[in-house]
Amino acid sequence: MNAAKRREIFSRLRAHNPEPRSELAYRSPFELLVAVILSAQATDKSVNLATPRLFAAAGTPAKMAMLGEEKLAEYIKTIGLYRAKARHIAAACRMLVERHGGEVPRTREELQALPGVGRKTANVILNVAFGQPTIAVDTHIFRVANRTGIAPGKNVDEVEARLLKFVPEEFRHHAHHWLILHGRYLCKARKPECPRCPISDLCEYRDKTGGD
Ligand code: SF4
Repeated sequence: MNAAKRREIFSRLRAHNPEPRSELAYRSPFELLVAVILSAQATDKSVNLATPRLFAAAGTPAKMAMLGEEKLAEYIKTIGLYRAKARHIAAACRMLVERHGGEVPRTREELQALPGVGRKTANVILNVAFGQPTIAVDTHIFRVANRTGIAPGKNVDEVEARLLKFVPEEFRHHAHHWLILHGRYLCKARKPECPRCPISDLCEYRDKTGGD
């Protein structure tokens, strides 16, 4: 795909949604961190149903560390993999208190040192909480980048590197939200909605779906 096409794709996605936001509910970098850890292999909707009560009971790392793994698990038991997530979050909260004065750190290295935080989660925090132009490649972005030809790659690391290289700077901050939302609601895994896709004339996917 050439640079002009990429620019046009992001221009259209931006026109459609100038200020895209995370669909996770949060009020602080700490709540975002917890919500993102909880969202691994779970829907944002299921996370948003559980977190209001949890955050009301323990909205800071110190309070959540005090709550402890067992009680934390009770609040999130409707979310997949909740036991492992409770263990990670409790350990991450202790580390935030002990090493970071109860604040969420702002560097990739410090974030990825927290239990339950991998590269993708760190990218989301750096981007959404701290405004850095990172691109967290999830299953939606991986699919959209490959289908459209914006940044094809065999694995998420390759797609992330290509997106960082190819997405024009003015679009980089919001690129991951635009691509996630596009993949979630239009360029769906099983049946992409090509007939009503605003970038179908630019997309290079060979198996576009037709109209009904
Ligand atoms: S035209 Fe179809 S395959 Fe291409 S981005 Fe749009 S929905 Fe996805």
